[in-house]
Amino acid sequence: VTAIFNFGAGPAALPRAVYLQAQAEMLDWQGSGLSILEVSHRSAAFIALYEQAVADLRELLDIPAHYQVLFLQGGATAQFSMVPANLLRGKGKADYIQTGTWSDKAILEARRYCDVHIAASSAASGYTFAPKQWAVRPDTAYVHYTANETIHGVEFHTLPETGAVPLACDMSSSILSRPVDVARHGIIYAGAQKNIGPAGLTVVIVREDLMGQVLPGQPAMVDYQLLAEHRSMYNTPPTFAIYIASLVFKWLKQQGGVAALQVLNHRKAELLYHCIDQSNLYINRVQPQDRSLMNVPFTLDDPGLETEFLRQAEAHGLLQLKGHRSVGGLRASLYNAMPFAGVQALVRFMDDFARTHGFS
Ligand SMILES: *Cc1c(COP(=O)(O)O)cnc(C)c1O
Repeated sequence: VTAIFNFGAGPAALPRAVYLQAQAEMLDWQGSGLSILEVSHRSAAFIALYEQAVADLRELLDIPAHYQVLFLQGGATAQFSMVPANLLRGKGKADYIQTGTWSDKAILEARRYCDVHIAASSAASGYTFAPKQWAVRPDTAYVHYTANETIHGVEFHTLPETGAVPLACDMSSSILSRPVDVARHGIIYAGAQKNIGPAGLTVVIVREDLMGQVLPGQPAMVDYQLLAEHRSMYNTPPTFAIYIASLVFKWLKQQGGVAALQVLNHRKAELLYHCIDQSNLYINRVQPQDRSLMNVPFTLDDPGLETEFLRQAEAHGLLQLKGHRSVGGLRASLYNAMPFAGVQALVRFMDDFARTHGFS
C-alpha cells in the first residue's frame, strides 16, 4: 500500500495520532458513556477540556497573562470585520499591509468600517515579497498584516517596528509553526483548519486593553469583551472542533513544542525549495528570504504538463497538490502534521517526473 500524504492548503491534514485517539474515544468520551459530540458545553468535563486547551495554547505560544484566548466561529473571515469593529476605539483609521489575496480580503472588509491606508504593498510585483518598510500613520488605530499568504506563498520572517501602534495579525496558515512574539501584537487570529484542527473553529488572542470598546450597534457575537466574559461560550461553542484542537495542542507539546516544529518545518521547506530551484521544470517566483515555510506554490515551465503531474502525483499517494483556483499552478502545503517523509516522497516524485519529461 502506498502511504498517503495530503498537501491540501485547508482543511488540511491533522496528525494521525489525533485521529486515532478521537476514533478510540468517539463512542465513550472519558468514561461518560457519551460521545464528545453530545456532551454539554456547560458540563464540568467539557469546561475542564476547554480550560486545558487554553492553557496548552498559552504554553505553546508563550502568551502573556494580559492577553485573552478566545475559541470562536466564523473563520478568519469573520475576524476581518471583528478586528476593526473592536480595535478602532473611536479612531476611524486603520493601516493595512497588502501582500496577497488574504490581506486584500481583510482590506476590503475594513473599508466598510473605516478609512483604510495601505502602509505597504507588494501588489505591483504580483505578490512575490514581504515589504520590509511600512509607512504607518501615527494616529492609526492598528496595523494589520497577514503573517503568511497561503495562496501566494509569502511569509513575514521579520517585522518592522510599529512603536505604540498595535499590530493585528491574520496568522491562519502559520500559527504554531514556529515561536511568535505575542507581546508585539494587539491581536492575533487564525482559522483552525490549517494548523490547529477542524474548520469551524477560530482562535483569537487579544490584548485585554483593546477589548471593551466595540463600535455601537454591533451584534453581541462581535464583541471580544462579551465573548471573553463568557469564556467563548456566549452561545454554544464548536465543541468537537475545540476537542480536536485540544488533542492537537497535546500532540504539539509531545513533539517538543513550536521551537522543535520550527526546526522540522525549516528542513521540510528547504528540501522542497531546493528541489524546485535546482530544476528547470519547477518555478517559484517568491523572493527567497520571504518564502513561506507552510505553503509552497510552484508552476511548471511547460504548463501543459500540469494535469499529468497531478494525475501521476495522485497515483503516488501525493494528494491535493492543485494550486488555488485564483492563481492556478501547483501548491504543496507543509503544515505541522506533514511528516518529513511526506516531503521526501514528494521531492522524489518531482525529480522523477522532471527527468521522464526531458527536464532536470
Ligand atoms: C484560509 C485563510 C483565511 C480564510 O479563513 P476562513 O476560515 O475560511 O475564513 C484567511 N486568511 C488566511 C491567511 C488563510 O490562510
